[in-house]
Order: sequence, then structure tokens, then C-alpha cells
Amino acid sequence: MKRREFITNTALATLGTSLLFSPLSGFSLASNDEFKLPDFLYPYDALEPFIDKKTMQTHYEKHHAGYVKNLNAALQTSHLKGKSLLNILSTLENTESDLALRNNGGGHYNHTQFWETMTPGGSPKPSMDFLAAIIKDFNSFDQFSRLFIEKATKHFGSGWAWLCLHENKKLFISSTPNQDNPLMRGIVSEFGIPLLGIDVWEHAYYLQYQNKRSEYIVNFMKLINWDIISKRYTAALKTK
Ligand code: MN
Repeated sequence: MKRREFITNTALATLGTSLLFSPLSGFSLASNDEFKLPDFLYPYDALEPFIDKKTMQTHYEKHHAGYVKNLNAALQTSHLKGKSLLNILSTLENTESDLALRNNGGGHYNHTQFWETMTPGGSPKPSMDFLAAIIKDFNSFDQFSRLFIEKATKHFGSGWAWLCLHENKKLFISSTPNQDNPLMRGIVSEFGIPLLGIDVWEHAYYLQYQNKRSEYIVNFMKLINWDIISKRYTAALKTK
């Protein structure tokens, strides 16, 4: 094991599973060294009128399922087979040989977190502690919302916009291309623990919104499950 890999894995071991998935979901990432598509959390039409049923169904059954299938296929010939998804993401490098794991491992993580990030009707604002941190790092909740929406709107092409916790425990907003994830330390320019991510691939909104990505983003903000995001923040704070 490389030194960096060891250090990263030691730090990540302290994250536990609560960071990735709340106790509510009961998602299991790995069994028999295979990743599986998690159960869906709500009916496909539960996020209407903001995200339509057809988009949700296709996104989960086709896109997310595809990432899981291709992740398992890529692991068959990888020395990372049997590792946790956190370990896989954190040890990937910007090489051709890591590309399939990067795209599909990222795709699996990002979407699993994404379904849980949303809840029908949204949930109230962040916990007191989390809200205080948002105000400290962005001046106000509204300012955070504006910056997050702007980052997601302006991201060029396919990818994700994120609210992350930096290693210095400050919150920051970033975006990543394709299925890259802020936990990919060897790949992304801004490493952090992702608390909130929005999928801005066209497959996430094009059926309903066509080219109006900004409308989709503004409506996504009404679906955020702040209870879950607050729990992710609390768990992320505890990492070394
Ligand atoms: Mn997607």
C-alpha cells in the first residue's frame, strides 16, 4: 500500500458509513465484493412537479444502474476489488487505467447520495450548528444559495456542483466534471467531503426542462433534505 493510500484510508475509516448514507436508507455498498443498486427511497413521481416521474425512473433504472454494472465489471480486473467505495474513490489517479473506476465508482457514489439528498417537498432548514457554519463561511444562507446555484448553473457541460467540508473544517462550493467526486483526492483540484451535490448532466433534467438548466436548479433547491445534509455535516466534522 502506498503511503498516501494508507493515510487516506486511515482518515476515511473514521468516517463510518453515516457520511455516505443516513441510517434511514440502510444502503449496503458492498456484498460479496459486488456493489448493488440501492433501493429507491420514494415513488418516482414523488418529486413532481419539480422533477418528473419519467426523468427519475430513467435516471435511476438506466443511468445509475449502468454505473453500478460497469463499476462491478471494472473491478473484476482491478487490485481495488473488495475495497469500500470510499477507499476506491480516494485512491484513484488521473490515469487511463483508472478511468472506468473513476467514471462508474463516482457515478455510483454521486447518485446514491443524490437520491437521499432530495425528499418530497424538501425538509426545513439546516440544523442550528450547520446553519451557523453556513453563515460563518458564506455570510448568510441566502448568499450560500446564490453561490451554489451560480456554480451549478455555470458549470460547463456534464458534471456536478457541490457543497463540501474542507479538511480545515470550512465549507466551500465546487464543481466537478463528468462523475468526478470531491473525495477523489488524486484527481480533483479541491478535495473535500461532499455534503450536498446536484447533478447537472442533461439526463437529470432535459426531459422536463430542455435547455433551462437554471430552472431545474432553482427547483432542486426546494427538494433538499436538510435533515440529511445536516447529519452529513456532523459526521464530516468528526473526521480527522
Ligand atoms: Mn445522473
